Amino acid sequence: MGIAKEELEKLESTGCAQDDVFFQAVEEVVYSIERLLESDEKYTKHAVLHRLVNPDRIIKFSVTWLNDKQEIQVNTGFRVQFNNALGPYKGGLRFHPTVNEGILKFLGFEQILKNSLTGLPIGGGKGGSDFNPKGKSDWEIMKFCSAFMTELHKYIGPRIDVPAGDIGVGGREIGYLFGEYKKITSSYEGVLTGKPFMFGGSLMRPEATGYGVVYFTQEMLKLEKQDKLEGKICTVSGAGNVAIHTIEKLHHLGAKAVTCTDSRGTLYDARGIDVELLKKIKLENRGTFDEYIAVNKEAQYIKVEDYPEDAHAVWQIKCDAAFPCATQNELTETDAKALLANGCTIVAEGANMPSTSAAVELFVKNKILFAPAKAANAGGVAVSEFEMSQNASMQKWSFEKVDEKLKTTMQQICKRVSYTANEYGVPGNYVDGANIAGFKRVADAMIAEGI
Ligand code: NDP
Repeated sequence: MGIAKEELEKLESTGCAQDDVFFQAVEEVVYSIERLLESDEKYTKHAVLHRLVNPDRIIKFSVTWLNDKQEIQVNTGFRVQFNNALGPYKGGLRFHPTVNEGILKFLGFEQILKNSLTGLPIGGGKGGSDFNPKGKSDWEIMKFCSAFMTELHKYIGPRIDVPAGDIGVGGREIGYLFGEYKKITSSYEGVLTGKPFMFGGSLMRPEATGYGVVYFTQEMLKLEKQDKLEGKICTVSGAGNVAIHTIEKLHHLGAKAVTCTDSRGTLYDARGIDVELLKKIKLENRGTFDEYIAVNKEAQYIKVEDYPEDAHAVWQIKCDAAFPCATQNELTETDAKALLANGCTIVAEGANMPSTSAAVELFVKNKILFAPAKAANAGGVAVSEFEMSQNASMQKWSFEKVDEKLKTTMQQICKRVSYTANEYGVPGNYVDGANIAGFKRVADAMIAEGI
């Protein structure tokens, strides 16, 4: 039996396989790093995998708040402090009705390796709540955020754990969370990132993840000696922070992004998505694609109910490059087959683990350029770390400075991943390259720090 299978069996016997989506993330990493484990027995001797898949602690708490009708509401809040071998726990907060411990463990585990890949001093964590922000008034969002922070503030700090945003948590929510933290602790410190610019946020944090995905893709094309993005037709999923800024940067570089999606369906505009209109609808007004269609009559709105469950309309559209930027497991094996059949040769993940294991296997087998999330979407957390640096030194960096540092960081991550893939005999396999490089840095730190 191979060492990866042995390790996975050991992990399964400790209950690691109980959460499907978490085990999916763990399984991919364990198979990817088999060559590293075989080349150096220190990782098994120090039980690094066993230690790495067990969060340092999972904090679970009740969040009780009053809605606008003065009715008492109860939600569950979580913070998974996964691993701080490389720096303070760092990772976003997700507010979405599907949030549970398993999803946060998967996101936190991915975050450890992602943060390690950036080369910056940040550990891995994740948190959130099953609270659904959709349809809530600003007052309700504020009251929920205050109640959430009343409990969370006990466990975080600029040198301990620094949360940020994720699905359902943007500048507005971070602002309310920060306000409450300040009120409770009387301390004005960089305990959250993704703050609005006027009180300690970094310029470019909203753009960072999406722009970073595109910078990573540019570098990957360069390293693999492929044509530039200019002129390429791109499909993008999602219509939130990551998707919108991915589309924006693709357009800056002369590519054409023709789709975006939300939980109700796919918007297809063959002339290229109108980003300014999309921002207005989705970021400013939290509206629907009907508003886009009302202005752009030629665009198409394909509803979710018109598609079978294992296929998504967005991935059936012919493209050169695909950018899944909505949520986990949104790109299935059926979708991957459609992309390949339609001639797509580049897939770069903006969301966390958006492609199922079977889809990833197909991309790797067919040797298309595949940029896995933990490398390609690390730009968000990198700029969050820049925000921590600015807060600690009471400085404000210019947009140009942050953009330049983001670009350099994404290029370095891409090179690190590509060189590692070459070093371990799997050239062009960015999945293995990212997993090995990410794991190695954090594992070596864990060994050096002792048990
Ligand atoms: P947002 O909340 O801004 O946007 C999420 C988008 O995805 C929305 O358009 C939403 O549609 C759609 N979506 C969410 N869940 C589902 C679902 N179950 N089915 C279909 N569509 C869905 O989130 P972000 O853009 O910030 O995050 C998107 C992804 O990127 C997530 O995987 C996140 O973990 C990852 N990520 C985010 C980072 C960041 O800096 N924000 C950093 C790194 C990764 P609707 O509004 O209809 O629900």
